[in-house]
Amino acid sequence: MKHLAGISIDVDPIHTHLQGYGIPNAGLTARPVYERGIARALELLSQNETAATFFFVANDVKAFPHIVRDTVAAGHEIACHSATHQLPFDLSSPERRKLEILDSKKLLEDIAGAEIVGFRAPSWDLSSELLDALAEYGYLYDASSYPSWTALALRLIVRLKSSARAPKVSLPPLNNCWAQAEPHRLSVNQHRIVEIPVSSSRWLRLPYYHTMRFLMPQPLFNSVQRSTLGRKSSVNYILHGVDFIDSSDPGVPADIRRHPGMDWEIDDKLKAISASLQAMSACRRLANLRTVAEELLAEHDEG
Ligand SMILES: [Zn+2]
Repeated sequence: MKHLAGISIDVDPIHTHLQGYGIPNAGLTARPVYERGIARALELLSQNETAATFFFVANDVKAFPHIVRDTVAAGHEIACHSATHQLPFDLSSPERRKLEILDSKKLLEDIAGAEIVGFRAPSWDLSSELLDALAEYGYLYDASSYPSWTALALRLIVRLKSSARAPKVSLPPLNNCWAQAEPHRLSVNQHRIVEIPVSSSRWLRLPYYHTMRFLMPQPLFNSVQRSTLGRKSSVNYILHGVDFIDSSDPGVPADIRRHPGMDWEIDDKLKAISASLQAMSACRRLANLRTVAEELLAEHDEG
């Protein structure tokens, strides 16, 4: 049987990216990503006959419940990307832990009318506190691990691009950079959780997710893609809401032009996403992340 390629989209509003660059007061800019970006994503996924996972920030969806329901109706998985997308992601008190991990799950379940089993931390801020909370609140999988040294390098670049004196972007612990690269099972306080890391190439561990299409020269991106798809395990290809946004869409602030891909025309951006989906579907089955987690557990139970 062919291995899977899990496809997911982090529905981050534009102000979230701006916060990362130290521009905290951009106003609320969820509308372009929700109203333009998701519509384009649903159409493109349908053209490519692909079911994906959409990671929603619970506080943002309150204004757009119909868009979450459209996403469910189109056959996609809804998963949780925290309640507030706070950076750095703080779970230090029981109140914050409940708000970000449990209340967000319940709110998304009410709106989506479906069980929420997957979580991705803002800015991939994986911690033992996070895994403990996910186990306690009954999640099936986490998709927050970024096991590549480039996570550290990229955060440093964001800090350099940042205009604020106090950077909002935290640096990942060094041991995360060489954590297990393939999806795997964890036992957390006797609960079973599947960890689905950001995919990376073999040996050099260059990351394989869509932002890299804008940061790497195309021959390098193609080589990372070939190497990653050569892994004998499922991969996890991540897109973001802004990958479906044109800088001329209504309500898009000019400051976001510093973000990778925001100098591309929307037609070229959509073609690049389709090209990645086609490269993956040539050798793998495209799926949502819940399917990746469930197949991994089923294989484990058989073996
Ligand atoms: Zn995010």
